[in-house]
Amino acid sequence: MTTNFDLIIVGAGALGTFHAYHAAKRGQRVLLLEKDSRPVGSTVRNFGQVVPSGLSGRWFDYGRRSLEIYREIQAQTDITVRQNGSIYIASNEAELNLVNELFDRRLKDGYPCELLFPTQILSRYPALNPDYVLGGVFFPDEVSVEPDRMIYRLIDFIVEKYGVTYRPNATVIECQSAMGRAAVTLAGDDYYEAERVLICSGYEFRLLYPDLFANSGLIVSKLQMMQTVPMPKVKLRGNILTGLTIRRYEAFAECPSYANLTTATAAQPAHLTELKKWGIHILFKQATDGSFIIGDSHEYAPANQIDDLGFDTNDAINALIIKEAKRIVTFPVGKISRTWAGFYAQTPDDIFKYDIDDHIQIITGIGGKGMTSAAGYAEEGSGF
Ligand SMILES: Cc1cc2nc3c(=O)[nH]c(=O)nc-3n(C[C@H](O)[C@H](O)[C@H](O)COP(=O)(O)OP(=O)(O)OC[C@H]3O[C@@H](n4cnc5c(N)ncnc54)[C@H](O)[C@@H]3O)c2cc1C
Repeated sequence: MTTNFDLIIVGAGALGTFHAYHAAKRGQRVLLLEKDSRPVGSTVRNFGQVVPSGLSGRWFDYGRRSLEIYREIQAQTDITVRQNGSIYIASNEAELNLVNELFDRRLKDGYPCELLFPTQILSRYPALNPDYVLGGVFFPDEVSVEPDRMIYRLIDFIVEKYGVTYRPNATVIECQSAMGRAAVTLAGDDYYEAERVLICSGYEFRLLYPDLFANSGLIVSKLQMMQTVPMPKVKLRGNILTGLTIRRYEAFAECPSYANLTTATAAQPAHLTELKKWGIHILFKQATDGSFIIGDSHEYAPANQIDDLGFDTNDAINALIIKEAKRIVTFPVGKISRTWAGFYAQTPDDIFKYDIDDHIQIITGIGGKGMTSAAGYAEEGSGF
């Protein structure tokens, strides 16, 4: 095992691991350190939807590139990538206008997309409730991954193929730089040196640079998630995004009719106020065993007050998610096998990238788009 590293990466979530992948591919000797026995942060608690269509600006481009990267890796080893596309389903006229506008925009972008009538949607997705479906836009190139497996397989791949050194149970408690090198100290006193250290520590703000994070403007979002029992006979493949998502994702916010949305809610459910209060929108992703991951809600706290979000899940929020999900699909969506809370770091300035000095850099706060865009974003390199 080499002990002479060019780059040490702290944190083996999507951001850290994809940075490790690209750096090692460029020939760097990389050490990837993870505090837990395996990564259990944002990267394993999500839907596994890779949906560039919903992103705007450079993040759309990173997402597009990420699709290629996921496919390149999947061609070499199974990291659970499946190409079943994404569909956004409009449930009223206002959402349908946005769907049409996003379709026009993506056509101009040269991004494969298809506008679908309700009959076409229902024949492709028979598990949808016909009363909900007014139309939709489909993005055939988009993929999904299995969040409970993807990152572990990716880590195995970069260790085997590119010689990355991976150390789990390795909590970095200090970073320093001196004489043109950087060094990290682990709990238990192990010590490593390299040219550079990149910290991709997700929503962990207390171990390294706590004062900096406390004043960073970073916030943490808590999301409630559920998974049904396996329903292999129900066919609802790919990434399923619905009306409230159309009202939430940034790509739609840039569409011309977005400004009219607030006045066009007449056809919305009576419980819309409650759904809005908890930041609920409804996404479905069928896992390989036929179960459905369903979510989600959003609650927020500043980086230094993450404990205020609590460790538990609120049954009333889950009941609201299920109630809205039942308007959308016809299968027994209330047959839940497990629930959990996921957390991610986000920033109003799209990502938090901060140079401690010439040798130590922090990158975190990619928000709710890391599974979609981290692979492409990390390819740019950390740039220091
Ligand atoms: C419920 C939920 C649903 C989501 N759905 C989607 C989706 O469908 N599509 C999408 O694109 N995105 C989605 N996201 C967002 C996506 O999951 C995140 O953007 C992404 O996983 C963030 O990756 P990360 O590497 O920054 O953080 P993390 O995955 O949290 O990784 C950070 C890692 O750093 C480690 N670490 C921290 N400090 C130290 C230290 N001092 N020493 C060693 N290790 C350390 C942690 O243990 C952790 O493993 C979702 C997120 C959630 C929570």
